[in-house]
Amino acid sequence: MERRLPNPVKKVIDKLESCGFSGYIVGGCVRDYLLGKTPKDFDMTTDATPEEVMKCFKDYRVIETGIAHGTVTVMLDGLSIEITTHRTETVYSDNRHPDTVSFSKNIMDDLSRRDFTMNAMAYHPRYGLIDLYGGAKDIEDKVIRCVGDPNQRFNEDALRILRGLRFASDLGFEIEENTRQAIFDCRELLRLISVERITAELTRLLCGQNVKAVLLDAVSVIAVMIPELLPMVGFDQKTPYHCYDILTHTAVSIENIQPVAHLRWAMLFHDVGKPETYTNDDRNIGHFYGHSELSQKIAVSRMRALKMDRKTISQVSTLVKYHAVPLEPTKKCIKRWLKRLSQPLFQDLLAVKYADISAKTPGNTKRLEILEAVEVLLKEIVSENECFSRKGLAVNGHDLITMGIDDGKEIGRILDVLLEAVIDEKLENTRDILIKKVKEIKKC
Ligand code: ATP
Ligand code: MG
Repeated sequence: MERRLPNPVKKVIDKLESCGFSGYIVGGCVRDYLLGKTPKDFDMTTDATPEEVMKCFKDYRVIETGIAHGTVTVMLDGLSIEITTHRTETVYSDNRHPDTVSFSKNIMDDLSRRDFTMNAMAYHPRYGLIDLYGGAKDIEDKVIRCVGDPNQRFNEDALRILRGLRFASDLGFEIEENTRQAIFDCRELLRLISVERITAELTRLLCGQNVKAVLLDAVSVIAVMIPELLPMVGFDQKTPYHCYDILTHTAVSIENIQPVAHLRWAMLFHDVGKPETYTNDDRNIGHFYGHSELSQKIAVSRMRALKMDRKTISQVSTLVKYHAVPLEPTKKCIKRWLKRLSQPLFQDLLAVKYADISAKTPGNTKRLEILEAVEVLLKEIVSENECFSRKGLAVNGHDLITMGIDDGKEIGRILDVLLEAVIDEKLENTRDILIKKVKEIKKC
């Protein structure tokens, strides 16, 4: 590990020591090293108080990130290094914030307050790895385990529940049995945690490589935030198209799409309206008329409650609403969708449809073939620069103004008429032809 420590980190340790203090790297970056990954950021812990750290680094760029919590950030050679005074946290009366943070002279205390064994290790270039709780072995065995008594740890800070699930999804690790049990037992405490922190963890959970297993196992935990997931559990769809119950289908479809936040959220919600819209016909085949619209409604209200950003809410809402619309493999149909959704979102819709169809009974190749044909035509439309938006028309608003049309609304209306006609292949998208058409429209 030593050789891989960036120079600025080594410099910070040397500097702290030359001022008479200790310095260790700690937490996520040590875990990442043991996982063979390059850490994104470096956290350090020291026995110096924040004031002493500031004094020690008075000739450097220092940011007082959170003096009350003992954190000072040192900027060195382009790297930002958070230095936090060893802490012990005492009572957590609100299940999320320690009532007092007391600084400790002891790195052992600091490690004991950390959440999971894999996150509770420190490293020093001379003293090596400090691993009091078997974190290295747990990483080797791919196990997530609380430091100390899991119930107590989740009672202190319930966000750890979601951090545990997020790490399980992200790293593909198993959760040790006592920790797992406590995650279920303490799940209602999540209601006390700020919604922004919850949402950040849920998004990372959804973007993990092992999300299917985590969602299927821990749906009752995630349902504290999204209760509509519960009726999906084990729901038999009674149709030959579906080999999975609704939740399993959903979980498989999430893993079928790239780990991009709005795509993963769209898959989570795409069938959430199914249980409520279920009917079965006289042959005992299940139907879910109107489920896309209900899924969209539920998705939007949950995403608002989770305070997700407007762009994500709008993207997910559109993708959920249209996930089941039939697409025709014709350029006209594709251009209408491109006009309505814009190109990136239409491409997302295709990805959603692939992920959805690929999570159904295998062998229904017809739908996939249609999607593939749509992809081929889409590529052609894009590479040939074919027109599907006002912007792509061979005339623009200025041309119409020059022709004496000065009402903004009227300009918009005429451009739309032209666009419709071009998409429907009734008019060629050339300047002369479009100008001729504008003159005709003007006359009537
Ligand atoms: P990542 O940076 O990949 O999100 P991380 O584990 O580094 O994961 P950070 O939020 O950067 O997460 O926290 C750094 C370290 O602080 C953790 O490794 C862990 O030791 C400790 N930590 C973070 N959050 C908690 C918490 N809620 N309870 C206890 N310790 C925590
Ligand atoms: Mg980190």
